[in-house]
Amino acid sequence: MQEKLNGIAASARTDISMAQSQEDLKKIQVTYLGKKGKITAVLRGMGQLSPEERPLIGSLANKIRDELAALFAERELQLRKEEQEKRIEAEKVDITLPGRPQELGHFHPLTMVMDEIADIFLGLGFSIVDGPEVETDYYNFEALNIPKDHPARDMQDSFYFNPEMLLRTHTSPVQVHTMEKVAPQVPVRIIAPGKVYRRDDDATHSPMFHQVEGLVIDHNVSLADLKGTLLLFAQQMFGSHQQVRLRPSFFPFTEPSAEVDISCMMCHGKGCRVCKDTGWIEILGSGMVHPHVLEMSGYDPEVYTGYAFGMGVERIAMLKYGVDDLRLFFLNDIRMLRQFR
Ligand SMILES: [Zn+2]
Repeated sequence: MQEKLNGIAASARTDISMAQSQEDLKKIQVTYLGKKGKITAVLRGMGQLSPEERPLIGSLANKIRDELAALFAERELQLRKEEQEKRIEAEKVDITLPGRPQELGHFHPLTMVMDEIADIFLGLGFSIVDGPEVETDYYNFEALNIPKDHPARDMQDSFYFNPEMLLRTHTSPVQVHTMEKVAPQVPVRIIAPGKVYRRDDDATHSPMFHQVEGLVIDHNVSLADLKGTLLLFAQQMFGSHQQVRLRPSFFPFTEPSAEVDISCMMCHGKGCRVCKDTGWIEILGSGMVHPHVLEMSGYDPEVYTGYAFGMGVERIAMLKYGVDDLRLFFLNDIRMLRQFR
């Protein structure tokens, strides 16, 4: 019996020292000291021993049980420490590594250009107004003196919801809304930036694009005021060397009407591919507000005059940044957009 106990103790010592994890050790502990463990079995079998042997074996078994219990506790502590160290090693952070910077976003180039346009006109005493993108036929066409047979009213060229409602094809209806609201007060000096919609899609046209509308009404407003304002705008937007040229044109809501060209920023007027060798680049349409349009919205054309202009934001952005395909602004290609930070 004594030998058997010593044998069990010896194999327990080996098993304890070989245990590789706390889990392992727990199992080994159950094998020896558990309710059905080897030492427990010996203690249970003591009834068969002679009365002389009983205290000897009993005390030996207790001694071994205490020893093993101490060994288990010691090994457990050791394993716990080892496992902790392994975990720390695995999770170790090198605090000398440089941080990973978060990439900051930035405004879209069209937003930047719109903000720049707005800033220039705010500096000239204009205020910014907003208007609906869904318009009635009256505001989009009728009140702007655009006759029923005008090509812009063709279903093929505009997005109609029904014969009376459509997505606005220009920002000009904001002129009418503004005049109706404030007439007959002067001065009116506003710009209206926003989205407009037409059935167009190619390198220089998009079904949705941006315009900035401008409107000034006061006593004695003339074409000279229009030209002076646009010259100032062009010089602030594209550089102080800029010149402005007005070319006769036609719009139903202005009379006289003019296309406005600025000197080519690529060749400075010498002539190049961008300006098609003319030295000039068209940037917007403008004119003196048609007397009929003034009258319809509550201004007496005998007393007041006004000028209006409308520019394409994409066009300005393409010229400013040298972008040759308008669709690039809407592709959400981060490689293209991050050039404008
Ligand atoms: Zn040029």
